[in-house]
Amino acid sequence: MRVPNGVLKIVFVVILFFFLLLPVSLESYRWEIRLEIGLSNLNYQFRRYVEKFVMECSKEGISVWIYNTYRSRAVQNALYAQGREPLEVVNLLRQKAKLEPIDERKNRYVVTKLRVSAHNYGLAADFVPVVDGKPQWYNDELWLRCGYIALNLGMEWGGMWKGLVDKPHIQMKNWRKVATFNHLERLIIE
Ligand SMILES: [Zn+2]
Repeated sequence: MRVPNGVLKIVFVVILFFFLLLPVSLESYRWEIRLEIGLSNLNYQFRRYVEKFVMECSKEGISVWIYNTYRSRAVQNALYAQGREPLEVVNLLRQKAKLEPIDERKNRYVVTKLRVSAHNYGLAADFVPVVDGKPQWYNDELWLRCGYIALNLGMEWGGMWKGLVDKPHIQMKNWRKVATFNHLERLIIE
């Protein structure tokens, strides 16, 4: 029996359509991501990395929240002082940065390594893996899996740092260079 060419073409197009549409619909089905905050304050290049990161985690069945992105220099100064300066100094800086005051207990811990951070240029983000709507701060397996996803995408992951390990932190590789080239206007304003 001879099948007319036209019919073959239609069958081919239908099959092609099916295969092209299938991955898209699966992906949108898996897309269960809640962002704690928007990504609009991130550097436009780094933002793509973060979006890719969230998507790749989702493909592996891991939801993540991005809970911190851009930080002003005032906020960074206050965070840098934490664990290093007396409580009054820290809380004065926090007041300037419009942050809630902290207590003596919290001021025992250093929370950031750097006086100027990739966060100040929108070149870093902090995330936490989430299961059933609850952040998984102590789930090392999930941290590792997410960390490797970030590394594979070409980002730096704070979980690999020596000294102050910062598991939630992901940042652009060579961020200092990117900051100088892309954020001259921000450097000048600050
Ligand atoms: Zn961070």
